[in-house]
Amino acid sequence: MHPSRRIFLASLLALLLAFASPAPAAAQAFVGKPKLIVIVVIDQFRGDYLNRDRDKFKGRGFNLFLKDGAWFTDCYYDYANTKTAPGHATIGTGAYSDGHGIESNEWWDAARSFDAKVSSVEDQRYQLVDLPHDSIPANLPGAPDWAAKFVVGSSPLNLRATTLGDELRLATNGKSRVYGVSLKDRAAILPAGQSANAAYWIDNASGQFTTSTYYMEHLPAWAAAFNSGPRIAQAEHEANADGTTQFYELVGRTPAANSYELDFAKSLIESEKLGQNGVTDLVVVSLSANDIQGHQFGPDSDFEEQMILGLDKDLDDFNGWLDKKFGLDNVWLALTADHGIAPIAGDAAKLGIHANAIDFDKVYDKVNKELNERHSKDEHLQYLLPGADLPYIALDKRVFEKLNIPEKAAEEEVAQLLPQAVASLDPHPAPFFKTIPPPVFEPSQQRLPTSPHVQYVYTRQQLLSGALPPSEWGTLLAHSVADHGNWWVMAVVDAYQMAGSGQFAGTNHFSPWSYDRHVPLAFYGAPFLPGEYHEKVAPVDLAVTFASLAGVNHPSASVGRVLTEALKPKLTIQP
Ligand SMILES: [Zn+2]
Repeated sequence: MHPSRRIFLASLLALLLAFASPAPAAAQAFVGKPKLIVIVVIDQFRGDYLNRDRDKFKGRGFNLFLKDGAWFTDCYYDYANTKTAPGHATIGTGAYSDGHGIESNEWWDAARSFDAKVSSVEDQRYQLVDLPHDSIPANLPGAPDWAAKFVVGSSPLNLRATTLGDELRLATNGKSRVYGVSLKDRAAILPAGQSANAAYWIDNASGQFTTSTYYMEHLPAWAAAFNSGPRIAQAEHEANADGTTQFYELVGRTPAANSYELDFAKSLIESEKLGQNGVTDLVVVSLSANDIQGHQFGPDSDFEEQMILGLDKDLDDFNGWLDKKFGLDNVWLALTADHGIAPIAGDAAKLGIHANAIDFDKVYDKVNKELNERHSKDEHLQYLLPGADLPYIALDKRVFEKLNIPEKAAEEEVAQLLPQAVASLDPHPAPFFKTIPPPVFEPSQQRLPTSPHVQYVYTRQQLLSGALPPSEWGTLLAHSVADHGNWWVMAVVDAYQMAGSGQFAGTNHFSPWSYDRHVPLAFYGAPFLPGEYHEKVAPVDLAVTFASLAGVNHPSASVGRVLTEALKPKLTIQP
């Protein structure tokens, strides 16, 4: 056949095939530009909770994700430092602490101060905005005599990676707008990012929303109106705490705080006219109540179920509101959490688990005593900085340096002494919560109390130099490191053991064990193929999946995977 004739026939065939293909309109319907992306983070919410209570969910709260969305049942953080600030930073950045720079809620920062730990978001160059008179700290003009001593502003100063929100803003030359909302400053600031238009959190005493001069000089009129309106009194009333000056503690730990936050988010979306500018806007709402309550009563109390079912109702209301305002076809939603939680040690111990609480004040005394014995007899030096913040144990490098002990030797010595000090504590029954009897009392009572035990200790130098096992465990540990100049060791105590003392105790999250790392991950929106997915995934996948769908760059340090198994083939997405 003559070549030109062959080309003609091929073109004709292509033309015919084009007409036979599904309507191109459907292909173009998916433009990757929803009006709004909403990421709902529940503070301290273990991945198994949704399964435990799924038969009790009603309406379009959790069920919007579980039945109509893509629900990943096996989502685990891949690091050891399962806390609020690193978790929220990870959700926004798709990176771990080695990428985003946030390893804990607060830390000893050698470059900033040895007087106290610095919080993950504290930034003395800024101030809090429009605080109520009663809450103005002593370092600001107009403060009352009884004011808290010194409260500084906040910013994403320590966040070393961009977020999904930052990438949306970069891709639209700032047209996309990005906001964070929470009761806690770190949970509002870190997932939103460096370029966020604003992050809002509350003044703990009054419950009024505030922000930092990093974002603005004064609250916008709508936020000031929210603060002066009836909503605070309503939340206090629902929480049986009318007129309280401890809003964070007394209202914050009840279901009333969730609807309070979601109402503020609605007010933000409405008043800032989000989703109406031809670009994709982003709001991250971090719901703090479950964490404030959960530390106290644990994951298995009746209060936990009340919180979950109350939140189901609030999310039904919020999702319905989004549907009415934008049509849910125009919104992408994600649901996740910043970390899980351990059961109350006594509850787990009564089932025969080797759970317990470890008195770290006593451990510190023993380690300091031994180090004084070896290096500074009769001097009573404090070689460890106060306040064990597991998994990190901070050394006071100034004390070691004065004795000419280099970092390597100092950390190795503490790493050697710690397990011995923990093991030498008297075994005692695991603490329980007095008012909440665990439902099951077995095995039989002749078992002896579990001994406190450190399973692993790693030095900062080992972790920074990558001297770790070439395994998944080694990778997990390497993800947990950010460097702020001070010396420390990472202590991993046995699963279901935690820092604590006394007979009655709450619980905590801080470890590389599964219960602290397991969180929900679920999506709803036009691109997602509804279903229940049991592939093991990680919270770092959230930001990159949305970035991919929106057609923008992945956040700068992200290591997540695009969850392609949960995406619809493009042509099936209807306009
Ligand atoms: Zn948290």
